[in-house]
Amino acid sequence: MGVQWLLVCHGLVTLLVVVSFLCGQWPIFQGTFIQRLHTFLTFGAFDYFRRFVEFVFGSRGTNALYITQYYCCDRPNPILQALYLAIVGGTFYLIVISTFNYIPSYYMGGYHRYTSVLAVGVGFLLFLLTSFSDPGTINAENVSQYLSLYPYDNIIYSEKECSTCKILKPARSKHCSICDRCVARFDHHCGWMNNCIGEKNTLYFVMFLLWHFFLCVYGTVAIGLVLAGRLKELEVVYILTAYYGIENSYRSLAPHVVQWLISSYNTQILIMVFLAIVSLLLSGFFGYHFSLCVSNTTTNETFKWEDYLSWQRKVKEAKASTEALKASLDDLSQETTKPQQSKWKSFFKRSKLEQDDGVEIIKNNIYDRGFFQNLYEIIYPLSSRHSFSAHKLKTG
Ligand SMILES: [Zn+2]
Ligand SMILES: [Zn+2]
Repeated sequence: MGVQWLLVCHGLVTLLVVVSFLCGQWPIFQGTFIQRLHTFLTFGAFDYFRRFVEFVFGSRGTNALYITQYYCCDRPNPILQALYLAIVGGTFYLIVISTFNYIPSYYMGGYHRYTSVLAVGVGFLLFLLTSFSDPGTINAENVSQYLSLYPYDNIIYSEKECSTCKILKPARSKHCSICDRCVARFDHHCGWMNNCIGEKNTLYFVMFLLWHFFLCVYGTVAIGLVLAGRLKELEVVYILTAYYGIENSYRSLAPHVVQWLISSYNTQILIMVFLAIVSLLLSGFFGYHFSLCVSNTTTNETFKWEDYLSWQRKVKEAKASTEALKASLDDLSQETTKPQQSKWKSFFKRSKLEQDDGVEIIKNNIYDRGFFQNLYEIIYPLSSRHSFSAHKLKTG
């Protein structure tokens, strides 16, 4: 039973850390342990470490720490690329040494030995394509071509010069401070790829997420089938019912079968739990990026829209409170002539701030040209089409 509880704890702790790290800021976790863990993981842990270094080594230690942090987080470096290779390589190696000797099995054909290598190989190829492809670097030679791709919407993009590159910033582009270059249709800088995700490589990035999701599901299901095959080949159910006298029903057999699997194949079960959690995360990431692709929005633009909408909301609120103040001043001057409003009526009356003044705050994304057109733009980027400048979008 000890191993069983260890596995349950492993699964729960992994899930807790991953959920806290990725979703700890969500409003539903406000004031909970998950939010505190998120703060610790994203900021607190480093701060404690910095204080420890300062205490032991003094200011020279903290300076060294800041320099290391600068080179690891603010400069291009292959640390996360190496980590990706280590995780994928390590997991696949563990599967090969722990599970390949049971293939072919009752439920798995021998060809899975080769298709699994092929599946990991395709994943690696997508990783190379995303990492080393040009995301759409803008320079003095091609800036005029990129300027013709998208019009300025004058909401989140207006004509501006990049203060570092000293060239006009095309609409939807951004200067990546890590790579030190302007990138067309900038999505985000991906540390795992050590590259920007932009106009030309968003397709590879989204394919990478989708393929790795399938890869994890394939791994989980394949190991599950291998274990089911072992159960069948070793006639575990027969032994349990005939020799141990356990009732031949799902309810009474399940705990014994699970216990047998965990004690005999704990490496495989650990890998299955890990792959299942990663596949869940990847499905979330893929879903998010796919929804961005089909609405022709970039990650960078979602932040810009958030800023714009919250600013618009504040302007609206300020307007409403000015009007409310004006109205109450008017009321005050007319108080003597106006009949007094019922106490209850004024209690239930909505405040001016809550009243809708009819002006709706909307996100007017002029780059959204419909589901299929947007998807086509990801698959076949505008900049790689023959008549580069002929694909100007109409501002509406
Ligand atoms: Zn720039
Ligand atoms: Zn970058």
